[in-house]
Parts: sequence; structure tokens; C-alpha cells
Amino acid sequence: MVHHKVCPLCASEKIKPHFRCTDHLVSKEVFEVFKCTDCSFEFTQDYPGETEIGKYYESDDYISHSDTAKGFSNKIYRLVRNLMLKKKKRIIISHTCLQKGRILDIGCGTGYFAGEMKKAGWLVNGIEINKKARDFAISRFGLEVISPGQIDTLKAGSFDCITLWHVLEHFHDPFKYSSDILRLLKPGGSCLVALPNSNSYDSGYFEEFWAAYDVPRHLWHFNPSSFSLFSEKSGFILKNIRTLPLDVFYISILSKKNRGSKVPFFTGVLQALPFAFLSAFNRRKCSSVIYLLRKPSDQ
Ligand SMILES: [Zn+2]
Repeated sequence: MVHHKVCPLCASEKIKPHFRCTDHLVSKEVFEVFKCTDCSFEFTQDYPGETEIGKYYESDDYISHSDTAKGFSNKIYRLVRNLMLKKKKRIIISHTCLQKGRILDIGCGTGYFAGEMKKAGWLVNGIEINKKARDFAISRFGLEVISPGQIDTLKAGSFDCITLWHVLEHFHDPFKYSSDILRLLKPGGSCLVALPNSNSYDSGYFEEFWAAYDVPRHLWHFNPSSFSLFSEKSGFILKNIRTLPLDVFYISILSKKNRGSKVPFFTGVLQALPFAFLSAFNRRKCSSVIYLLRKPSDQ
């Protein structure tokens, strides 16, 4: 178990229990989410270390790593994913100002996003910890995918863009990854990090039932303000914030399920509508945020 005595982000001692969250997906165990009163960063407390966390990913429902089309929520997930793939590609082209380039997708899962970029003519590398997902990405999309332990085999300063779609919150050592990313990017290169937003309208409404807490798989629960501090400490320039506006529907359906709704699809979609509407006017309160970072061009 990993226990934090101080805030993992700003090292403040002013941390306190915020919510008790249940692992609804796999173990049904309860984990505490702590919050730092100085920097507003939230993190899972007393979570399994790197060698013990594997069993908390052992679920057929863990859709990021499997490709099952079974079940209603998986079907919705796939529909949303296909819409979002196009949007992600558009954001990359506009943020990098490149029609084609070299991209690394960290935590590429089954490779759908990396495959989309390859189809658009980009040179693509992927990193994925799960062997089954890795093998799928290689055979389905013909991608070059390595395991995280092989990250040092990638050439420093060789990527125009590095993406992390909902993966940084899973890493035991996000600061190690951020220094790897800085090293691998070209000077002035782009990094896109998508994360759930613990200061969103939906997280405020669902509180400990908010599905994106996803303990103990999600260790860090960033919001735009705490992520801004993280990017600054990591040596990046935070250029802009974009959103993944459909994620709130998926998260709200799962959150309703966590709260015991008998018709979570119906109640979740209804509940998500005002959140989706309001966050169109306030990106910093959207359920799912994409942070557009740049490596300083003099490095
Ligand atoms: Zn803090």
C-alpha cells in the first residue's frame, strides 16, 4: 500500500480525507480520496503499489484494455469513442500546426486512436502495459507498440507530439513520465493530456459516486488548477484547454449505476444534459478536459 503523508503535488501537509469511494468495477473495496487544501489536488490514499495493482484491472468490463462489444455501456463507449477519435485528430492538427508528423501515444490500449493517426499519414509509436491490448493494437492496426519498460529505446527529441488519453491518472510516478515526455519531444513539441476533471459539474453532483474516481485504478484526480501546477513543475507550458464533451454522458450513466439506479442509461443521460450544456460555456467545469502543453523551444 502506498500512503502519502503530504500532498504528492505541492508537498503541503494540509491534506485531509475528502471522500470514501468504492471500487465498483472489480474488488468492491473502499479507498479514501484525499484533498490538499493548499493546491486543491485530490489523490487516492493507501492504494496498491505497482506490483499489486494488476488484480484491480482484471475485469471483462475494463473496456480501455479489451475490445468487447458486449453490454449496453460498452456499446455506448464505442460510439462515443468513434466520434471522439475524429475530434482528437482535429485538435492535434490544429495544436501542432502539422498535417503529418511523428506521434507517440502513451497508454495506447487497443490502438484505435494510434490507428486513426496512422491512417491520416502520421508516423506512429505506441506504449501499452497490457500485453493483450498491445498484441491487438499490433495485429489490428499494424502499429509499433512497446511496453513501458522499453521507453528508453525511443530516440530523444524525435516526436512532434505525445498524447496521453486518460492514462496519466493511472501512473504510479507521473513525474517520471513527464520527464520522459520532455526528453522524447522535439524542442517546441506538443503534448496532449486528457484527464477527468475533479472540479467538474458532474463530479460536484455525484460526489463519491462519481465514476471517474475509479479507485484504485485512478490514483490522481486533477482539476484545471492542480494540473496547471503539475505542468509548471514538470517544465511544460500549458497553452490551452479543450474538452471531450461527450464523456459526461458515459460518466453520468456509470455514476448513476454506482448510486444504484435501476435505469442508469436513462437517468444518466438526463442528468448529463444540463452538465453538457453548462460546460459548453465553461471548459474548466467540463467532465473531461484535454490540456494542450508545449515543450519550451529552447530545450
Ligand atoms: Zn497540494
